[in-house]
Amino acid sequence: MKKDIHPEYHTDTAVTCACGNKFTTGSTLKAIRVELCGNCHPFYTGKQKFVDTARRVEKFQERTVKKAAIAAGRKGKKVKKEAAAKKKAAAKTEKKTAKKADKTKA
Ligand SMILES: [Zn+2]
Repeated sequence: MKKDIHPEYHTDTAVTCACGNKFTTGSTLKAIRVELCGNCHPFYTGKQKFVDTARRVEKFQERTVKKAAIAAGRKGKKVKKEAAAKKKAAAKTEKKTAKKADKTKA
């Protein structure tokens, strides 16, 4: 190796994960902080996990909840059509009963 061009190599670099797992490895850095390790990565645990930065996942979930609430309040075309048909039918029967009442009066 050429002298004075290589960084110092540490054989006992401490790696700290966000989940609390710690282990040592070799690196030019003295300490490494990671968000995921083999202990907590979804691929190895088999559990779903969100690695959320800047609250993106939370924001998205809030939005979907809001949308669902709005959608639940809305009525579909079919429901609206049925309601309109019922109204029409009710108006027709009302007219008929009114006519009958007129006939009985006369
Ligand atoms: Zn971890």
